[in-house]
Amino acid sequence: MSGRPLDTVIVGASLAGSAAALVLSRSGARVAVVDKAVFPRPKTCGELFSPDGVAALARLGLDGEVRAAGAATIRRFALVRPDGGRVRGRLPAPALSLSRERLDALVLDGARRAGAAFHLGEAVTSVEGSLAEGFTVKTPARTLEARTVLGAWGRYSPLDGRLGRPFFGTPAPLFGFKKFLAGASGSRLSDLVTLHVFRGGYLGLSLVEEGRVSLGALATPAVAQEAHHDFDHLLARLRAESPALAADLDGLTPEPGPALVSEPVHLGPRGATWGELLLAGDAAGVVDPYTGSGMALALRTGEAAGALLADHAAGRFSAAALLPEWSRRWRAVTGCVFFFSRLFRPVFLGGLATRLVVPATAPLAGLAARLTRGPT
Ligand SMILES: Cc1cc2nc3c(=O)[nH]c(=O)nc-3n(C[C@H](O)[C@H](O)[C@H](O)COP(=O)(O)OP(=O)(O)OC[C@H]3O[C@@H](n4cnc5c(N)ncnc54)[C@H](O)[C@@H]3O)c2cc1C
Repeated sequence: MSGRPLDTVIVGASLAGSAAALVLSRSGARVAVVDKAVFPRPKTCGELFSPDGVAALARLGLDGEVRAAGAATIRRFALVRPDGGRVRGRLPAPALSLSRERLDALVLDGARRAGAAFHLGEAVTSVEGSLAEGFTVKTPARTLEARTVLGAWGRYSPLDGRLGRPFFGTPAPLFGFKKFLAGASGSRLSDLVTLHVFRGGYLGLSLVEEGRVSLGALATPAVAQEAHHDFDHLLARLRAESPALAADLDGLTPEPGPALVSEPVHLGPRGATWGELLLAGDAAGVVDPYTGSGMALALRTGEAAGALLADHAAGRFSAAALLPEWSRRWRAVTGCVFFFSRLFRPVFLGGLATRLVVPATAPLAGLAARLTRGPT
């Protein structure tokens, strides 16, 4: 590419990347976003969009569109123990539930309308450079030059390996998988997200648009493999092990096609920067899915990174101060979420720990619902 470098190239056009692009473009900065996927696309996710995410959507001016796209409102949660016992509670504020096909495409379209350029269906293969010299970002189809780069490439990308991030290539402790279910009895789940803990993981059920039910799960590699090879067989096994799950799934049928299985899931914070790159969303840290906070964090850290990079582009913030300032702001946005999501993990990830803490599960689940969400 010749000519004036862009202000920012963003790698990843999902929630974190598109939120950042929207904020940057509205400020007048010149932004390009690259994603290996073409949108709309499905994504392994429970699709519960927590209240702090709903507030961030409103700040971005997209909450009306998301509701108009058919998002279900969720006010209550239930946690179902392996023995079938069920605890219930109210979420601190209403959440929304919409398929990632629709949600991600709406945020992307918002950024496009604000003026961001998108290069979709192109994987970024290398990022080189520095804040002093500028960056070069390459895909098989193009070379982009920019003053700053924001990494919003999610929880696990080949780019992590090329950049030498330590978790890449280490044995994956967990995988996610997801499937939509259909059936008139889905309305039973109206206003409710239900988490079923089972041996080897947990799954969430919530209603999304048009009466479909989203089933998103986090599980050991063995269970995820079972989901990949024969989802119906896995579901039959889990139903047989838990009458409560069988009751919740009664009248619901998996939509045709294989289950979607995620990249490896390495939970925990990773840091807001890598080298001289700023990171947002899952690329900077993966919060436990049971919190239903990952999407909100992606949107909120993307929004905050966009605001800081816009200040840098406008000359209001020096390159030297950029990285420490982003680390400080990222910590301010994420607060104690990673600490509490780790603290309550044994309650949700089953095994011996679940049996030990079961008597305390109801108050813990309520507390977790409050503590693992940021300000709304
Ligand atoms: C099983 C499971 C259930 C979950 N359930 C929920 C839930 O109910 N509620 C919730 O809030 N969160 C949930 N999450 C978490 C949520 O899915 C993530 O936190 C969220 O998607 C992070 O958004 P992101 O924009 O950071 O990354 P992503 O949404 O992962 O997007 C990253 C993007 O980067 C692109 N990309 C990657 N590598 C490259 C490359 N080299 N070049 C170009 N593009 C690239 C990808 O194509 C992708 O579009 C769940 C996670 C799992 C695993």
